[in-house]
Amino acid sequence: MDADVIIIGSGAGGGTLARALAPSGLSILILERGDYLPRELANWDAETVFNTHRYHTDEQWLDGAGKSFTPVTGYHVGGNTKFYGAAILRRRLADFSVRRHVDGETPSWPIGYDDLAPYYAQAEDWYFAHGQAGTDPTEPPRAAYPYPPLVHEPRIQGIYTALRAQGLHPFALPLALHRDDTHPARSPCIRCNTCDGFPCRLHAKGDAEVCGVAPALAHANVRLLTGTRVTRLIAGPEQRVVALEADGPDGARRFQARVFVLAAGAVNSAALLLRSRDAAHPSGLANASGQVGRNYMCHLNSACIAIDPRRDNPTVFQKTLAINDFYAHSGDADFPYPLGHIQNLGKVTPEILRAQRPYFPRALCRWAARHSVDWWLTTEDLPDPENRVTLAADQSIQQHYRPNNEAAHRRLCTRWKTVLHRLGFPLVFFQRMDIRAVAHQAGTLRFGADPMQSVFDPDCRSHELDNLYVADASFMPSISAVNPSLTIMANALRVADILHRRLAGAA
Ligand SMILES: Cc1cc2nc3c(=O)[nH]c(=O)nc-3n(C[C@H](O)[C@H](O)[C@H](O)COP(=O)(O)OP(=O)(O)OC[C@H]3O[C@@H](n4cnc5c(N)ncnc54)[C@H](O)[C@@H]3O)c2cc1C
Repeated sequence: MDADVIIIGSGAGGGTLARALAPSGLSILILERGDYLPRELANWDAETVFNTHRYHTDEQWLDGAGKSFTPVTGYHVGGNTKFYGAAILRRRLADFSVRRHVDGETPSWPIGYDDLAPYYAQAEDWYFAHGQAGTDPTEPPRAAYPYPPLVHEPRIQGIYTALRAQGLHPFALPLALHRDDTHPARSPCIRCNTCDGFPCRLHAKGDAEVCGVAPALAHANVRLLTGTRVTRLIAGPEQRVVALEADGPDGARRFQARVFVLAAGAVNSAALLLRSRDAAHPSGLANASGQVGRNYMCHLNSACIAIDPRRDNPTVFQKTLAINDFYAHSGDADFPYPLGHIQNLGKVTPEILRAQRPYFPRALCRWAARHSVDWWLTTEDLPDPENRVTLAADQSIQQHYRPNNEAAHRRLCTRWKTVLHRLGFPLVFFQRMDIRAVAHQAGTLRFGADPMQSVFDPDCRSHELDNLYVADASFMPSISAVNPSLTIMANALRVADILHRRLAGAA
């Protein structure tokens, strides 16, 4: 036996799970295909991050039509939280029940908000959550945040006030940053403009390496093997996983454990089960229901640049404000459906614009960035069994995705444009994200009570394989319209408790 528990992947789910299990004394082995992301000057270079993609994979995936694309995702210790914008929001109460949308209904979850609430609180504590309870009208019941909200810089504070004057309810975006605004000189986070989408060179972002893996490795019973890509799980005759195969620095080898936990991210965890097919499981492991890989979701996302040519925006750390006034309901009698969530983007700089649009003249990038305030708009996409991960003939990943709920997203953009016009921004531009934007991937191995409609049970244990669990974004039956990470972390903590109860006393 190589370990009591093997965790495949060290991101939001895997890293948090490892830290939670560490004090149990159980032997924990984390297998991570990537390496530590190097701390170097280039971490903060927009050209390196967004154009030459030094930290992203160069893997090719196929879309539904068989056309290849490079997903914007990375393989490192800490997973995609190395790049995340650190916006950590709890799902809303209604996100756990059936919700009507313009294009259909989202399913209810087998657990409710109350089941996750204590784990949300624990995750917020570990990940340095800053925020202010009681200011977001859609917020579920909660106690105070562990840390106060980040202070808005003057331009954003002005927008906050002007939004309030429009009758809206802007609030401080909850953020996972190691920051103390009252003692800036002693604060690890320096509120720079290379946070959202960039790795943090200072390790001041609450990512899964800093807040999950590193504290876990402080315990002697936890080990991490980097550069070790799990290629296959092997099932035995008794409805159990008996081993896995991985390619590591010393070549291919097998690992055995009492329990195996998938935490490779929604796309890779599903692909791994599909690649693990054998004679007894011809359509992949844990896939008698045919549900593995289905119901992929990733949000409808748009970046928005609002320009007021008469005013400069000198803000450095811009990602401090959010709006949920259109989250549950559009407010329009002819469209009684949810629209989504809006938050600031990290401040767009000339370098970021130029890296993402190399054909834009430099002067235009400088001008636009000088006057812009930047936003990120998210609408829930609904689970659709035909939106799915499959394997191509050469075993590479094929991602079939046709967006739905688009009328809601268009309305969210139109509504926000009207608000921005009233705020004095005559020029408002939107950019919809395409299939390469897999940042918020979720839902390919959903949990549920019905073994024919889900892959994992409400405890996140496989309906078919007694010792196989999931702890990444793939367990979600619906994605909601808020960012996914905090829910992944909270659920990983819940899974840790379940595993602890199961394995307790054996360490
Ligand atoms: C630019 C960007 C900005 C984002 N901003 C936000 C934000 O502000 N707020 C938010 O909530 N979310 C944000 N996200 C999304 C967030 O990062 C993800 O939702 C989250 O990291 C997913 O957690 P996970 O555990 O499912 O997967 P990941 O964190 O991706 O971890 C999966 C891990 O598994 C490893 N792995 C994959 N395959 C294998 C294999 N076969 N063998 C071994 N290891 C494997 C990977 O290398 C990786 O370390 C952002 C993402 C990006 C890219």
